[in-house]
Amino acid sequence: MIAISSGKGGVGKSTVTANLAVMLARQGLRVGLVDADLYGPSIPGMLGVPSGQPPAMTSTKKVIPTEAHGVKVISMGMLTADDKPAVMRGPMVTKYLQMFVTQVDWGELDVLFLDLPPGTGDIQLTLAQAFPLAGAVVVSTPQDVSLKIARRGLRMMEQVKVPILGIIENMSGFTCPSCGEVTHIFHQGGGRTIAESMGVPFLGAIPLDPAIVDSGDSGEPLVNAAPDSPAAQAYASIADAL
Ligand code: ADP
Repeated sequence: MIAISSGKGGVGKSTVTANLAVMLARQGLRVGLVDADLYGPSIPGMLGVPSGQPPAMTSTKKVIPTEAHGVKVISMGMLTADDKPAVMRGPMVTKYLQMFVTQVDWGELDVLFLDLPPGTGDIQLTLAQAFPLAGAVVVSTPQDVSLKIARRGLRMMEQVKVPILGIIENMSGFTCPSCGEVTHIFHQGGGRTIAESMGVPFLGAIPLDPAIVDSGDSGEPLVNAAPDSPAAQAYASIADAL
């Protein structure tokens, strides 16, 4: 079980999780993905899983996960319609998370990704303490404000004794399609610097690429839609590093 976390929202954590999961499935691994972002599930949209259509159950009352691009998926977004908020307090959240891990008919898996919501709250603690995580990956954009908060996430994982598998720098440099010049819109290199200063692995950097937005919105992750693109190759080398 590998948790993918981030200090704050919008840094591309779910996009990274979806692409890494599909990349590992393309390489022949048996991959599951728990969308643990119960309040803001974005994995179904990114993997083209319809929302508001509760999955079927086995005869032993386990939920059958939906398979998308070779990945078995469970998400709150599958249980509720797109415009319906998940309104619930802590104990209910804990119940759902435990169900997503233990009451789903995952079968044999090589890796189960947990796409955590941003921050260091209830959901992160519940998962870190209730399940034997192999480790956590922290996603951050390269600018200071994001990295400072990512550092807090790293410290939380240390406190709850979850090994840090590494840091991924996302949205790292944009290559102009006309002239080829690279602009570091959110700066560059911060992910590697923070990894070195905290003594944890730096797993790699993913460029800022509008094709990632389009593929995420269309439900076809970039590693499938454009497997030869530089961004897809960045995901591949991060998957290898994991
Ligand atoms: P988070 O899970 O951290 O909140 P998301 O994965 O939902 O972030 O991504 C936020 C937005 O940024 C989405 O619109 C997504 O398509 C976009 N995005 C993520 N990574 C990149 C990237 N490397 N280049 C361009 N857009 C990206």
